[in-house]
Amino acid sequence: MKKLILIVEDEDDLAALLSYHLQKENYQTVIARNGDEAIDAVQCHEPDAILLDIMMPELDGWDVCRNLRESTKGKTLPIIMISALSDEKDRIKGLSLGADDYVSKPYSMKELLLKIGRHIDRHQMIKEMKAREQEQNTAVQYMIHEMKNAMAVIGGYSSRALTKDDPRNYLKPIHIAAMHAESLLNNASLLSQLENTRGNLTTEAIDLVAVANDVVDMVRDMAKKRRIEIAVMKSTPLLVRVNRTAVRQVLLNLLSNAIKYNRADGRVWLYFDDGDGMVDVSIRDDGNGIGCEELPKIFDKFYRAAGSEKIKGAGLGLYIVKVLTETMGGKISAESDRGFGSTFTVSFPEENASSLRPAREVA
Ligand code: ADP
Repeated sequence: MKKLILIVEDEDDLAALLSYHLQKENYQTVIARNGDEAIDAVQCHEPDAILLDIMMPELDGWDVCRNLRESTKGKTLPIIMISALSDEKDRIKGLSLGADDYVSKPYSMKELLLKIGRHIDRHQMIKEMKAREQEQNTAVQYMIHEMKNAMAVIGGYSSRALTKDDPRNYLKPIHIAAMHAESLLNNASLLSQLENTRGNLTTEAIDLVAVANDVVDMVRDMAKKRRIEIAVMKSTPLLVRVNRTAVRQVLLNLLSNAIKYNRADGRVWLYFDDGDGMVDVSIRDDGNGIGCEELPKIFDKFYRAAGSEKIKGAGLGLYIVKVLTETMGGKISAESDRGFGSTFTVSFPEENASSLRPAREVA
């Protein structure tokens, strides 16, 4: 998308000339002829940078700069002052009012264009960094909130269990909360492990069908609560070379989603397939599905599809699934239809039964 530059200049010829050169460089432009118009234009058009003349009647460039730096939309906007005032004291005044740059007339158009590009790029980078920080904070807050809830459930029900005749009545909620907490911590620790080891995970030969059955047992109570049935469509072993904790987490994230985003009384199936050196497991549900416009984005960090707001989540589960699967040399794909459920298929490298080896490091 073209970047938008606000030109604040009371001389029409100069404004038109600047606009001409900027448009030639593929920028969009909007012109304000005085300070008040400039402040309104920042609010309405949200430009990517502003070229600000200083000497204007009534509200001058100094006032506009001061005003913008105190406003939300103008706080970080790149401001380049352009002025016939070329004294050091004027340049210092402009910069100390918060301008990012100060260009004295007459100036080289080439140099000005370079400066504009550089300021816009820097501004964009800062914006993206801030957005990432914000996302990370949200994820940390979510983790803290979820862990606190899980601990409150575990604490509350276990103290009741200690004083009652039949403590078994209190074990189910304790078990579900403990599993949720364990899954949260596993997601966080696997992710940081990957970031710290630049993608190395210890692998070993394991039976994917057995791990899938273990994970189904882990989510059985969660499924029962929503009267969801889970069917594992294979009973014989299929050997893969993977990291045990990572593959468990991949299946746990996918199965939890198949339950969370399903309808009550829904169904979940686990199908297996092998060939071409890979073993596939498909987790299919008959829930609400995902719209085709959202499907390409669901593996993005923090992405949550529309309508998921009421369901617990931080948009990290599928991102982690993708990173872990690909780190182990596997692949993931998703198919879905709004109203007809979703199928997530993960493929892992097959272990040749004749070459069973102890755990090793993958480069
Ligand atoms: P979370 O569940 O924490 O929001 P995920 O990364 O696991 O995060 O999933 C991202 C989004 O993808 C979810 O918010 C949901 O909108 C959508 N999604 C994931 N799995 C399913 C599924 N089986 N059915 C429908 N939507 C799903």
